[in-house]
Amino acid sequence: MPKMTTNRLLEGEEVYEIALRPKKINEFVDQKSVVDNLKVFIQAAKKRHEPIEHILLFGPPGLGKTTLAHIIAREMDANIYPTSGPILERPFDLAGILSNLNDTDVLFIDEVHRINKAVEEYLYPALESFCLDVMQDKGIGAQVLRLKLNRFTLIGATTRSGLLTSPLRSRFGITFRLDYYPAEDLHHIVRRSAQILGVKINEDAAHEIASRSRGTPRIANRLLRRVRDFAQVEGKEQIDVEICEYALEKLEVDKRGLDEMDKKIIRTIIEKFQGGPVGINSLSVAVGEDAQTIEEVFEPFLIMEGFIKRTSRGREATALAYEHFKIKREQGPLFK
Ligand code: ADP
Repeated sequence: MPKMTTNRLLEGEEVYEIALRPKKINEFVDQKSVVDNLKVFIQAAKKRHEPIEHILLFGPPGLGKTTLAHIIAREMDANIYPTSGPILERPFDLAGILSNLNDTDVLFIDEVHRINKAVEEYLYPALESFCLDVMQDKGIGAQVLRLKLNRFTLIGATTRSGLLTSPLRSRFGITFRLDYYPAEDLHHIVRRSAQILGVKINEDAAHEIASRSRGTPRIANRLLRRVRDFAQVEGKEQIDVEICEYALEKLEVDKRGLDEMDKKIIRTIIEKFQGGPVGINSLSVAVGEDAQTIEEVFEPFLIMEGFIKRTSRGREATALAYEHFKIKREQGPLFK
């Protein structure tokens, strides 16, 4: 069975996501400060008849980076050309795309931290002065031709901002960080998606799905689709808490939406490090996950939900973490 609470896109899931993707900025739920600022930047750019500055969107998978890039292009009445870092293998691949962009068009590069060095360096003049050096012929007679580009906007998305080189990072005029969604906001997304899918769901059930979705719209939409299947088979007209609980148990979705790595991190802190504090590098070795990924992808959710806390001495498991895993805290001098 595919992991229900992974924030990565599952195979074949993309078509279902497109149908549920908000198209206008006012349909984009939560992330208020990002949305409010973005509205201002879009309006100002439109007034000046200029493209919006290059934007870097960063945050864990499934929080809406691709969705926002499409929304921005639409609000600017521009086209969007989506690609991704690992696909752009040679500068030539990039030149083909860039020379086709019109004024204010959006080039969206997902996983922008995975662009290789040669392509990245080729991108710099395009970002700064909207021009590109193209080699004519090869060998001794080779000439470099400077090609003028239209004024486009690059939107880069990354889950790993720490891996971006500083020259590339400095070429983005605007940076937005997307955070995990509180359950109250995910609940709005569940209701909105249910309406689009034409399924009835009551308030409590929407809340139950939201609170088990690991703060991630992608997971909320996925769980809704799966719960809908169970409801249909059971002949339920409306999704209620009972069918939600039944379906989510069958799907092995944790009460708090924790995924395998979340559980491993918490259990490791408790079982191998007596609840902490433990430094990020020791934790990384113990769970077999890269330290930066723990810091950027897993930890923010676990902190938001109150399972671990960050102190100056390292990470500590909270009382909630012990309670969730039904582990008794050690008593005595170690008791924190
Ligand atoms: P990312 O690019 O960050 O991995 P996506 O933009 O592909 O994430 O979002 C995954 C899915 O979650 C989208 O199909 C969209 O339906 C939904 N989604 C994400 N953010 C929001 C939001 N703020 N409001 C409503 N739906 C959202």
